[in-house]
Amino acid sequence: MKYHLHVFGCQMNEADAQRVGSELEKIGLTYTDHARDADVIVLDTCVVRQSAEDKAYSYITTLKPIKEKRPDTIITVMGCMVGVKSNGTLKKQFPWVDVFMAPSETAPLVNFMRQRESFALMAEETRHRHALQDGDILLPAHERGSLVAAHVPIVYGCSHACTFCIIPYRRGVERSRPIGQIAQEVRSLAEQGVKEVTLLGQIVDRYGRDFTDGPDLSDLLRVINDIDGIERIRFLTSHPNWMSDELLDTVAELPKVCEHIEVPVQAGDDEVLRNMKRGYTTADYRRLIEKIRAKLPGTSIATDIIVGFPGETAAQFQATYDLLEELKLDVAHLAKYSTRPGTVADRNLPDDVPEEEKERRWRVLNDQHERISDGINRRYQAQTVEVLVEDRHKGKWRGRTRTNKLVFFEDETTDRRGQLAQVKIEKTGPWSMIGTMSH
Ligand code: SAH
Repeated sequence: MKYHLHVFGCQMNEADAQRVGSELEKIGLTYTDHARDADVIVLDTCVVRQSAEDKAYSYITTLKPIKEKRPDTIITVMGCMVGVKSNGTLKKQFPWVDVFMAPSETAPLVNFMRQRESFALMAEETRHRHALQDGDILLPAHERGSLVAAHVPIVYGCSHACTFCIIPYRRGVERSRPIGQIAQEVRSLAEQGVKEVTLLGQIVDRYGRDFTDGPDLSDLLRVINDIDGIERIRFLTSHPNWMSDELLDTVAELPKVCEHIEVPVQAGDDEVLRNMKRGYTTADYRRLIEKIRAKLPGTSIATDIIVGFPGETAAQFQATYDLLEELKLDVAHLAKYSTRPGTVADRNLPDDVPEEEKERRWRVLNDQHERISDGINRRYQAQTVEVLVEDRHKGKWRGRTRTNKLVFFEDETTDRRGQLAQVKIEKTGPWSMIGTMSH
């Protein structure tokens, strides 16, 4: 029996799908790259922008002929298109889908399958064969011993109410996972060869704030830092209001936690930020970046920007441009504003920036970002950096620096996957670098 996963969207979706994959591996299924060969097909959907939602709809449509040809195929749709409050409309719209599952859930599919006795028997046998403990993750066979970097959700949902954002409506209220459960998952990933984990949450710095007297993100980082086999730890996404000094000090203190912070600003104008209900000003953000750079020299900083938010004037857009020019961040994830049903902006703020103007603003920032990243990456020229090798791509080894820069290098002699290589950088560009191994 085989399963296939198709994932749209963010790292959280990748992680959610991996956990579904793990449950299917535990039942005894094996992974296939092709939906047409699979007995179980799982689609993980994203609706953060209309373009993502369109992709999910068209993919579901391609599953209909598969179900018609092989009615025993179990088709599952999960993720933000389904959401935590699904009301049956999707089932009417897509009758060929067997299971609909909220983001980060696995039980509805597992229960659906266990109704078939043959699956229950297979599951028992697999559990014994792999000596699995409750809470372990079982990677697909082709990734066991070769997957280098994995994502681990630590906070589900989100209870902030940014006016543009659909995520809280679809992923539900903020819920931190128990520290022991997270540690157990990371240990089982490490035992299967994983060297790097990225801890995930919509506001990852809020880890544990929904517990009374529970651990916080610094405590969790300390626990993960002690797990054998794990070489690197990252966490994302941070929110400017929740990045505490203590957290930055913990990043500085713990050797495995990388110099890499993802902290979105979204806009460089205070009125736009107010309309987004982000809860900080551009001055606050500037101060935070200064503090990060003072406490963690050499840290790479990534941000997210939305262009064309309702009411954004040319001057307000220019303020975003100017802020990015001043701060010179390593990465800027750029998005054109897209109205999302049910959000405050959808109800109260007309989507009044024309599409061509959104496109123009996006291009202006993209060109700016390419130039800024190119400048930052040039500083790596002739330096020797530590690269954690992830895989092979077009005849070269591909990995990342602690600062999350993509590096390619050649080496025919050894399998370098999962190793920390010292690489001397010879050529840099805005998106990646090339170097040679220094021995
Ligand atoms: N929780 C994180 C990011 C979540 S979504 C945070 O708040 O920072 C990832 C990115 O998608 C956001 O940072 C934002 O830049 C973008 N995004 C979210 N909603 C959007 C919308 N309606 N239109 C365009 N981009 C959006």
